[in-house]
Amino acid sequence: MLSPNEEMIKQQIDAVFSAQKNQSLKLRNSTSLLRISLLKKMLEWIKLNQEDIRRAVHADFKKPYPEIDVSEIYVVTNEINHAIKHLEGWMKPKKVPTPITMLGSSSSIQYEPKGTSLIIAPWNYPFNLALGPLVSAIAAGCTAIIKPSELTPHTSALIRRLVEETFDKSVVAVFEGEVNVSQLLLSKPFDHIFFTGSPAVGKIIMKAASEHLSSITLELGGKSPAIVDSDANLSDAAEKIVYGKFLNCGQTCIAPDYVLVHESIKDNFLNQLKEKTEQMYNPGKKGIEQSKDYARIVNSKHLDRIKNLLADAELKGARTFYGGLINDSEKFIEPTIITGLTEDMDIIQEEIFGPILPVLGYADMEEAITYINLKPKPLALYVFSNDNNTIKRVFKETSSGGAVANDCAIHFLQNDLPFGGINNSGIGKSHGYYGFLAFSNEKAIMKQRVGMTATKPLYPPYGFAGKKI
Ligand code: NAD
Repeated sequence: MLSPNEEMIKQQIDAVFSAQKNQSLKLRNSTSLLRISLLKKMLEWIKLNQEDIRRAVHADFKKPYPEIDVSEIYVVTNEINHAIKHLEGWMKPKKVPTPITMLGSSSSIQYEPKGTSLIIAPWNYPFNLALGPLVSAIAAGCTAIIKPSELTPHTSALIRRLVEETFDKSVVAVFEGEVNVSQLLLSKPFDHIFFTGSPAVGKIIMKAASEHLSSITLELGGKSPAIVDSDANLSDAAEKIVYGKFLNCGQTCIAPDYVLVHESIKDNFLNQLKEKTEQMYNPGKKGIEQSKDYARIVNSKHLDRIKNLLADAELKGARTFYGGLINDSEKFIEPTIITGLTEDMDIIQEEIFGPILPVLGYADMEEAITYINLKPKPLALYVFSNDNNTIKRVFKETSSGGAVANDCAIHFLQNDLPFGGINNSGIGKSHGYYGFLAFSNEKAIMKQRVGMTATKPLYPPYGFAGKKI
């Protein structure tokens, strides 16, 4: 039973959805020029309103402006520029070879927009993860409804403004709101649903999509490991892991969730982690809480969730090697490094999604690889080593959405690579051409000559019955 407010939202959704259904038929034949003109309008809006974007994201969880510039604004403008540059090539039908048995025919793949799409976004990169998929939807010729996260209301309102000032709602529209709005949207027969969020909600989305057999892209999370082997450059590894982990206050889907470090270098590595954290976030020695370069936890619920993970770990014997300071009223958690971990701890089982870095030792690579393979497949995996054979081995013997040697998270910015997870960390890929594909139907096209067919000998009556094939 819907409340009067939900009934009103439902009617608005119904109206926009049916307008987008009609529009998607018109967009089916849209040229690259039309799609590029839409992308350019979006780019122009972002450039003109950069200051407003910074203010909105900052208001939501004190994300530092330089982090907003790089990980929210640049990521989207980079995605737009990449699509503008390559769209014509992506859209061109691709010829495929003709086997000898089909001589006379020709075959190609035609990229057809799937139609009307739904984009459900999370809060942790609220601008980037709502608008990045929109770039792909527009590039593919789809219409889109965006449901931004309710946990970042300033950014959600700004996304709505961007969309209302840039697009007709029959092409792109935004519905802000909580889970109930998401559920109302999910009841519609979308042609594609692009969801970014947790594996738990990903399952709900997949179930809802199955009602209409809507195709889905699920960009999920999980525990992404970083392996630091005995021959790694410890200063380099520690610096990159500290950046990848504490960026956005640890609330990054591809942050190294935990580190597996070779026992022989564990103490040195821990000291390096501490030194790099101090260098990045406490250069004036006034305490990290004073740093303008460090974000906050998004809300009290997540603050409590992370505090509970820490409390459970401490109760079961974990030790804080560095950090640990918490200021509830500021939703501040200091970058924290913990050791003495065991498998019965929640922090070792659940995605941390906060600035706590567990460091575990391993005796040999076999042990590290087995440890990772016993857990659900992660979104990303990082290996730090100077030995190419070690890197190759880790890449080959583990499974993850993406894998990087000697750095963290940089693959997100490489538009020529597919981005996404595998099983528990996601289904389908995004970014650049792969994002375009996610919103496209790769239609198989065959043309036969009139009066010709290589299959004629196969028609009945079946003279070949009983012969060997
Ligand atoms: P979430 O799953 O709680 O919410 C994501 C979106 O789903 C929000 O818009 C929310 O309103 C909606 N939602 C929540 N519950 C719903 C329900 N029952 N039915 C329908 N819709 C519902 O995720 P979050 O807390 O916003 O984001 C954190 C998670 O997202 C982490 O697991 C993180 O790893 C993951 N993540 C993944 C990527 C990626 O690219 N793979 C990127 C960022 C975050």
